[in-house]
Formats: sequence, structure tokens, C-alpha cells
Amino acid sequence: MNETDSIKDVTSHHCLASFWDRFTNGPLYWNTMDKVLFVALIMLALELLKFLCVLSGESIGSKQKIPVRGKHLDDLSSKDLLFIGISKAQTGPFLYILLRYCFQETNIQWTFNEDTSILQTVLLPLPVLFIVYDFFYTILHWFLHIKAIYPVIHKHHHHQKAPSRATDDAVNVHPVEFTLGEYNHLWTIFLFCRILNMRMHILSVLLFLAIGGVLAGWNHTRFDITFSIFGIVTIFDSKAHDVHHRIPQSNYGQYTMFWDNVFGSYRPYDPTDRINPKTQLDSKTGKSLNYAYIKK
Ligand SMILES: [Zn+2]
Ligand SMILES: [Zn+2]
Repeated sequence: MNETDSIKDVTSHHCLASFWDRFTNGPLYWNTMDKVLFVALIMLALELLKFLCVLSGESIGSKQKIPVRGKHLDDLSSKDLLFIGISKAQTGPFLYILLRYCFQETNIQWTFNEDTSILQTVLLPLPVLFIVYDFFYTILHWFLHIKAIYPVIHKHHHHQKAPSRATDDAVNVHPVEFTLGEYNHLWTIFLFCRILNMRMHILSVLLFLAIGGVLAGWNHTRFDITFSIFGIVTIFDSKAHDVHHRIPQSNYGQYTMFWDNVFGSYRPYDPTDRINPKTQLDSKTGKSLNYAYIKK
């Protein structure tokens, strides 16, 4: 190795070491390029999330998919693509702000020590986070359906009456709606730590976001996925949101129908509702079977 090579080697090691130092010191210390890289990685993670939703839906969902009953949005308009793009681009900066908050939040732990149990700081916070999140989301979603406000923000999401594209259909919302829904996660974590004054591990925060991403994705597919406690209490059912896309004055919750049951807006899925065989989706193209006919 000549002198130039050894200088290059030392420099690259130094760069890596200083990157790692900045990374572990927290987002407050990231430079502009670190932030750009972070946002790019989150965009990539969102694409992987969509892939994961489809892959897991194929294996977890029941063999019979949810039939299409409302009109499927076969072609995405330039406005749809713009809104999907804005939502995806917003996610990186949102997670950066969330990480900054988590770094300075004393009730969030970043390490495991003897007096920390995984059950207490990672698993138990999760149901609380989902229920608190959905309390505010259900009210927000109901508010967005008020006649005078509906056309301005939320109507765009309801152009799709039979969601199928997983996270892409989930984030196909007006930018204002996406921001409110996204920052509701941060608000929930803040309430958990500051108002409930409870401690949790950063893993719990990451699981909350990752599981939430998968559930919101499944809600916008034709996969019939249900989770229940001992087969008695349903905690998630992808069909509930499908009902909402067709019958908007019902099922306002994002992850659970807990608050819809409390507020009386829960409407169960009815498998006997009428189905038009021609409007089902072609598994190859992902568009309605009568797409070519509609186009004529
Ligand atoms: Zn939806
Ligand atoms: Zn809605």
C-alpha cells in the first residue's frame, strides 16, 4: 500500500466513524447529506412496506378475497400520482421530526437494562398506542366527512371505492389529511409519555409505526385479514375499511373499530351484499375485468 492509498484508507475510516458518531448522537447532529440519505431510505422503506403488505396478505389472508362491490379506480390520474408522491415525500421529514422528539423524550428508553422488561416497555404500550391513536383518528375522520368540509379534503380518497393497491391507495389522500393522520402518531406518543407519564422503549415506537403501516396497507387491498383475541373479540378486520369506502358514514377507525363500536358508527361487513362478476379485478392487470369495455 503506497502513502496515498493509506491516506485514502484512513480518511474513509474517519468518514465512516464520524458518520456513525453523528448517527448515534441523534438526528440533531445529522448534517444535510445525512438527512437527504435518511429521507431516501424512508422512500425505499415505503416501497418495501407495500411489497411486504402484498406478500403477507397472500399468506395470511383467507383464500377468498374481498369481492369488489364499489367501483374500482382502475387508472390513477396525475392528481392521484401527485398526492401519492407528496404523501411519500412527507414521510421522511415526519420520521426525522419524530426521531428528534424521541431522542429528547425522557420517558423513551433507547437501551435495555436489568430493570426493563420487554413485556412492560415494548409490548404493553402497543395496544394503548393504537387505541389512543384511533380515538383521535376516528374523530378526525368523522369530521372530514362533514358535508361542508368533505369536498375540500377527504373526497379525493373516496374516489377509490374498492381499494386494491395497498399503501399506494392508502396514501392517496389530500396532503392536509396525510399530515394530520401522520402527526397523530407523534401526538399519541407525546400523550403516552407526557400525559399518561408512562415509559416505553424506542422499539415500541418503531413497532407502532411499522404495524400501523402494514394494517393501513392491508385495509387498502382485497385481502380478507382478521385478527381476534381467542376468536371472540375482533381487534382488526380489513373488511371494515372496505365497507367504509362504499358506505362512508361508518367505520371511521384506521386500525381498530373500537371507537366506532363505542360511538355507534360500526357497520359490520355483509357477505351477502350484491356482487357484479364483471367488476371484479383481473389478477394479472389489477384492473376491473370490464376495463376494456369501460374504456370504449
Ligand atoms: Zn381508505
Ligand atoms: Zn372516509
